[in-house]
Amino acid sequence: MKIKAAVLEEIGRPGPYAETRPISVCEVDLEGPRAGEVLVRIAAAGLCHSDLSVVNGDRPRQLPMVMGHESAGVVEAVGPDVERFAPGDHVVSVFVPSCGHCGPCRNGRPALCEPGAAANGEGLLIGGGSRLSRDGERIYHMTGVSCFAEYATVSENSLVRIDPEIPLDIAALMGCAVLTGAGAVFNTGDVTPGSTTAVVGLGGVGLSAVMAARTAGAEKIAAVDVLDDKLEIARELGATHLINSARDGALEELREVTGGGVDTAMDFTGNVRALRFAYDATRRGGTTVTAGLPNPAAMLELPAVGITAEERTLKGSYLGSGVPSRDIPRFLGLHAQGRLPVERLMSEKIRLEEINAGFDKLHAGQTIRQVIDFD
Ligand SMILES: [Zn+2]
Ligand SMILES: [Zn+2]
Repeated sequence: MKIKAAVLEEIGRPGPYAETRPISVCEVDLEGPRAGEVLVRIAAAGLCHSDLSVVNGDRPRQLPMVMGHESAGVVEAVGPDVERFAPGDHVVSVFVPSCGHCGPCRNGRPALCEPGAAANGEGLLIGGGSRLSRDGERIYHMTGVSCFAEYATVSENSLVRIDPEIPLDIAALMGCAVLTGAGAVFNTGDVTPGSTTAVVGLGGVGLSAVMAARTAGAEKIAAVDVLDDKLEIARELGATHLINSARDGALEELREVTGGGVDTAMDFTGNVRALRFAYDATRRGGTTVTAGLPNPAAMLELPAVGITAEERTLKGSYLGSGVPSRDIPRFLGLHAQGRLPVERLMSEKIRLEEINAGFDKLHAGQTIRQVIDFD
């Protein structure tokens, strides 16, 4: 079928993107679902910083590629052998397909699925190949999702079914921002009542972590960013202390207000200096969680002795170290109780055609989550 989609044509083109237009919104061909696959009509899709990292070249990918990895929509058709989904189901996309059979999947860690990571790295579906093309030329998938498009053909292992009563724009944010941010708090960081935390980097993911840390009962939540207006949003969402890390003495200030450093520091920046700041913000025995995705060439240097003598821990968190089919319904439940007010992340609704300008805004830090509205 012919669909309208946002295709990244070139990586690393200079901004402003509204003028240089690295992404073209055009008609492409989408093949219907094969065995184990589902055709989804996309209703809402969020612009995430890791999309921007592909556009600006920090995370190189195959081109041309239909972008987007955070969405919700309605099942339009299912391929052979699909039993878990039926037309009309409401679904959230997940940016790592999980095979269910490999070592990590068997160990309950679907975010680390090996065939899923391989397919994502190749820009293909986990079932093999691409379902997207233009004038006969292959177009690649982004993380098996490619939701900046009217429709997407995805593996059934890239979807979680949700209650059809839930607004699809709220549901879309579950697929990356909330799954990653709240997952880092509840799964990776294991933030407990009365504990102290720092959240470094206040985009959609970091602000989800601030909300989740409050819901988890953290006594002190230090929000860290270089932009004062993002710090103010973090305060509204539950941060107890605001630290502008661009100011001199920011680390000392954070350590002082948290009584010598935090139990858990979480980095969501993709910037190694910010990750080091998070590590240095922890107290003796503290844990640093990072969900940032730096450039593959970036290296991190740490004082080695502190890992032993101060029992410091550094943990990666991908997809919130979670099980999406368990966590997305849980986080939607917290949202329904008012304890994860995800709608506060939504800065504005945009049209697919406005996507280049949307990435300019994201780059400038002028927005939290812009959601493409397809309805
Ligand atoms: Zn994302
Ligand atoms: Zn697997």
